[in-house]
Amino acid sequence: METLIGIDLGGTNVRVGVVTPAGKVLTSADALIQAARGPQYGLERIITLIEQVLTLVPEANLRAIGIGATGPVDRARGSIQNPYTLPTWEDVDIVGPLSARFGVPVDLENDADAAALGEAWIGAGRGYSRVAAVTVGTGIGYALVTDQAIEYGVDGAHAEGGHVLIDPHGPPCYCGGRGCLESLAAGPAIAARAQQAASGNATAMIQLAGSLEAIDARVVVQSARGGDALACKLVAEVAEWLGLGIVNILTLRLPDCVCLGGGVMQAYDLFAPGIAAVVARHSIVIPAERVKILPMQLGGLAGVIGAARAAWNKDQERNS
Ligand SMILES: [Zn+2]
Repeated sequence: METLIGIDLGGTNVRVGVVTPAGKVLTSADALIQAARGPQYGLERIITLIEQVLTLVPEANLRAIGIGATGPVDRARGSIQNPYTLPTWEDVDIVGPLSARFGVPVDLENDADAAALGEAWIGAGRGYSRVAAVTVGTGIGYALVTDQAIEYGVDGAHAEGGHVLIDPHGPPCYCGGRGCLESLAAGPAIAARAQQAASGNATAMIQLAGSLEAIDARVVVQSARGGDALACKLVAEVAEWLGLGIVNILTLRLPDCVCLGGGVMQAYDLFAPGIAAVVARHSIVIPAERVKILPMQLGGLAGVIGAARAAWNKDQERNS
């Protein structure tokens, strides 16, 4: 049976799955990447995981390996350039060692691109032709998939939708800008704003968190569900900012589907009405009625599935 390996390499965890060309995950396994121990350790962990999952599918005829890695990645050279979320992983060749060990083509993608392709293929974006994916978690990621192909920028670069400008007077962002979507609406930004707003206020968020400093995005969401006025106000603000970010995407890229995922979007239902209201208000000159905004469906497997599909796409191109 023809199979693919999909790898989702994050800053903390790596997940490896055996995936069929129809997108079914036959088995998967995880390990901690422990970036501080260096890339050699991480590469060995990844190779061991691949060997492990392959022994669980003895009938597997491995065709290709796809990696979706926390970026930046150099796709042309097959190397990871990421001292930010993978400390010590700078200029690390990941494609070479894996293709040498397993004797199949290896494809490297940015993790947000891989997850978007997974969702476009067999997740929330299935059946749509232009699928934009936005993940809201520790950061905010964005990718566009057109007819099952990842859209790249110049030299294969990955678009950074978390750094579109929402408020030029907003909080500073590590990218050098101010008021980027990510510096307003990502998990840590929600936590920081909530702590600031809760200080000296009677709010259920402090009791729920145990202390002011312990308030995080999860506490904000839970308190809003409980009807806490301040938490509801924070959720409404964040929904507005996310809505503006999505309006920018709609205006420039005209997708027919936007899927939302990531840790913060586990509370998709809470943010969805606010996002929809902003989109309705700002999308008069574009065919916004054609756009479906949906929660992602593949959860923690989107990256594995999408990386496998990217590798499959490349394999098909080579053989055509
Ligand atoms: Zn920024």
